[in-house]
Amino acid sequence: MSLLDFFPPDYRVKTPAMRSPEYVQMSTAAAITLGLVPGRIYRAGCTHCLNLLLTYPEGCRANCAYCGLARHREEARDYADRNFIRVDWPALRYREVIERVQAGGDRGRFERMCISMISHPDSNRDTLALLAQWVEALPHVPVSILSNPTTMERDDLVRLKQAGAEIFTVALDAVTPEIFERTRGKAVDSPHRWSKYWQSIEWAAEIFGPEKFGAHLICGMGETEREFLEAVQKIRDMGGHSHLFAFFPEQGSLMEDWPACGKAQWRRVQLARFVIDYAGGDFRCMAFDGAGQLTGFGVEESELAKIVESGTPFRTSGCPGKDDTEISACNRPYGDSPPTDILSFPFKLRLEDIDIVKQHLNGKNVKTFFE
Ligand code: SF4
Repeated sequence: MSLLDFFPPDYRVKTPAMRSPEYVQMSTAAAITLGLVPGRIYRAGCTHCLNLLLTYPEGCRANCAYCGLARHREEARDYADRNFIRVDWPALRYREVIERVQAGGDRGRFERMCISMISHPDSNRDTLALLAQWVEALPHVPVSILSNPTTMERDDLVRLKQAGAEIFTVALDAVTPEIFERTRGKAVDSPHRWSKYWQSIEWAAEIFGPEKFGAHLICGMGETEREFLEAVQKIRDMGGHSHLFAFFPEQGSLMEDWPACGKAQWRRVQLARFVIDYAGGDFRCMAFDGAGQLTGFGVEESELAKIVESGTPFRTSGCPGKDDTEISACNRPYGDSPPTDILSFPFKLRLEDIDIVKQHLNGKNVKTFFE
């Protein structure tokens, strides 16, 4: 089941010849919160982050093996009809997006806006244009940039910071050079380079500063838990945070037959990432077996139990809202799993949710509670 099952096909919004910066695509959750499409977000009500995506009729020029926007899908479907992460991304005039947010009420609940760039020659210029209009119209709603390092130089980051971007994030996705190369580098005829991505993270640390930069990481693309958490620690040591995604085989992508991320692996990695990023833990104190699987979190059992009972590590990780830095305003509802089998919880966990997470940590493959 996808979010789209909650509203009828007639309301699905496609993106024909629409081009940024006049138009943007947005997550289904943002479209529901804005009142653009009818529907409800299971147990989340609305989203507090307006996730926008640059859009061009000719599409993304990269070819990442796991992505629904990739170039290799051109012949299969219209670009407009492709998915970024497992939910649809309808399009709207940017001016109307701003007016709807300004109108307030339920539509004014956004604590953050995020511009996701794609690999396109105009994406630097158009991201700046969207950012400038936003800062002028809605200066109280901070902006994150989910960047495309391949087309960017250091000065582009400086310009974004000067124009008012608050957080700069790099969609690194793959945590080892080998997996990066295999899924989004030369091996799949894609332009991205591991070294450029890390260089951009270093630029972001320098230009945006501690707590104001981060990286997206996808769990379950063939890396070990040790490799994954080593990357998390590296980013924390630089002053940033990691935003996690469970690998989901996007239909029509080159990795559509790859298995979805295992639940026990995902829960261990979510918990360890929280320990590193927010509970004073350290990868270097954690224990791993010969296969690189996490066997010890490097914190007292009683302390770890309290962290698990809070449920916070298992919520969607991302850029913060107004008050609590541990809680992501960007909850990306059902971006990496369906409501019947939740991997990233887009809401505060109840006791029955925490019980299911504990079963996952104990190796049981149970599905989440579904009302
Ligand atoms: S965590 Fe959310 S708000 Fe932050 S960069 Fe990623 S998609 Fe954007």
